[in-house]
Parts: sequence; C-alpha cells; structure tokens
Amino acid sequence: MELELEGLRVMNDVCIGIDLGGTFIKFGLLDSAGSLVGAVTSVPTPTAGGGDALVESMAAGVGELLASCAETATPRAVGIGAPGPLDLAAGEVVAMPNLPGLEKYPLRDAVARRLGLPAMFENDANAAAYGEYVGGVGCAGKDMVMLTLGTGVGSGILHEGRVIHGSYGLGGELGHMIVEPHGRPCGCGQRGCLEQYASAASIARFATPRVEQASATTTLSALLAANGAITSRDMVEASLAGDPLAQELWDEMIFYLAIGCVNICRIFDPSQIVLAGGLTKAGEALLNPLKKAIAAESWTMSETHTDVLLAKLGSDAGAIGAAGLAWQMLENQPH
Ligand SMILES: [Zn+2]
Repeated sequence: MELELEGLRVMNDVCIGIDLGGTFIKFGLLDSAGSLVGAVTSVPTPTAGGGDALVESMAAGVGELLASCAETATPRAVGIGAPGPLDLAAGEVVAMPNLPGLEKYPLRDAVARRLGLPAMFENDANAAAYGEYVGGVGCAGKDMVMLTLGTGVGSGILHEGRVIHGSYGLGGELGHMIVEPHGRPCGCGQRGCLEQYASAASIARFATPRVEQASATTTLSALLAANGAITSRDMVEASLAGDPLAQELWDEMIFYLAIGCVNICRIFDPSQIVLAGGLTKAGEALLNPLKKAIAAESWTMSETHTDVLLAKLGSDAGAIGAAGLAWQMLENQPH
C-alpha cells in the first residue's frame, strides 16, 4: 500500500515550464515521464512594472495552471526560457529590446523565490529545441539541431540530449553563421549571416528592391503595389502560383539555408535538423527543395545521414522545453 502511494506521488510530480515572449508568457507542466500535464496556457506579457510585475504575472499564470489540473500536481522545479542575450550563470537578462527595464534583472532567482522552487534559466531558442526533443519530433540519436526561421534565425544544439552553450555562453548561434562572405550586413556586426538570407523578415526585406527592379509585372510586383510591402507568405504563395521572380527568390533562400545545413552536418553530424518558425508554414514547399539542395551541395565522399524535418509543437515548444530542462536540472543534482 505504501509502495502504491509512493508510486502515485511520483506520477503526479511535475516541472513547470515558462516561456517569456514579447507578447505572451506561456506555461506548461511536464510529468517525470516527459508527458504534458494539462494544456499549455498563456497570459499577456506585462509591458509596464519591470521585473517585479513580470514575476507576479508568471506566478499568477503558474497558479492558474496548477489549479486547473484535474489531478493533484506537485511542482518540483521551474524552468524559464527567455529571449537573449542572457547571463545564464547569474540568471539575469542582459538586454531585452522588446521588454525594457529588465536589464540586469535577476529573473531566475526572483521566480525561484516567488514560487519557492528551484529554477533553471535558458535561452528561449535552446528551450524550444529541447521541447521538440522531449515532447515534439523526438530524436532517437540524441544529437539534434533546431533552426527557427522566424523574424530572425534562432537555433539550439543538443548533444547527447544536452544544450550546448560553448565556453562563453555564445555557442550555437547558427543564425550568425556566415553563409556569404562579405554578404548582407547583419545587426550583429558581421556580414553574410544565415539570418540575413533565411529568416522571414530578411527574405521579405531583400525581395522588395528586386521586385522593384524587375521589368515585367509579376504577382509580387502587383502585391507590392497594392500593399506597399512583400511578406514571406506572399513569396511562398507567388512561388507556388508559378511567379518566376518569386521562385527565383525562394530558391535563393533555399540555397543559403542548404549551405547552412551542410555546414551544420560537417561540424556536428546530428541525427536530425529540425526546422521551426514562420517560414515552415510553407511545409513541403520548403522541405522538399531544401532536401534536394542539401544533397546537391553536400560532399560526395560519404553519405549524409542527417534527416531534415519540420517541428511539431509550434509556439508551445519553449514552455514544454523549459519544463523538460527543469527536470534535467533536478536529475543532475546530487541525491
Ligand atoms: Zn549576424
């Protein structure tokens, strides 16, 4: 009987995952088997009140989620994913352009104190990669790279199921891998970064002058004239509809993304590269030409086994991954 009770208690232990975004804070609970308990929920990110208001919103969101669980969930630890740059060792936000007032705020320890739980702090792209690993696409090989093709190109590298941070906490910034020497200037100060060729924002931005220069009227030029801007979705739709300029621009993006993927394979030889973010809404129109381009650009002296696939969890990956990383933190603690 005692054993049964003990088993029941372990079943209901959960770790809390919090994913801090510029618009919403998301919350998720994972049990010790890595299964989501209840749903992923969210509250609006407070835009005023600084770190203390943020921590209160997080505590309220966690409280509601725990209360909504039909079974009694006993929280063991909390994981927090936040946009960088972060000081992971100190548990502080270095800068957060979308949420001013959080610079140098000790977010990890403030959340730990407020919830009375041990807390883990991680970059949101790394948390999302771990989320897909633990509760999304999974990864039999344990070596996985995720690229999030959104406004920028976020990335996370998992080796043996653990996030790689590098010696100075700046490892795994694959969006700033140079894919075109002396190429397009990047906000990071380099030129030719992958982010300037394969993010939704950059392909839309760099498409505009090309469309304006084109002599023939195309689907894209009509959209530019009507809306004053071109979006990455316009590009995909026009490309699928057979617009030659849109196809050229899309193929160009695919080429640079393939170069990035081949470089990732050469360095890490991961079992899979997982693609997430807004551009993956293109689905097979992204995946199929990308696989072909990777095969065309990849070496011939050996087979490249790395699989390329689309993420499953969407914007829930960060909260699920943060909870998973909290479990990993507990497992690493001496018993
Ligand atoms: Zn860059």
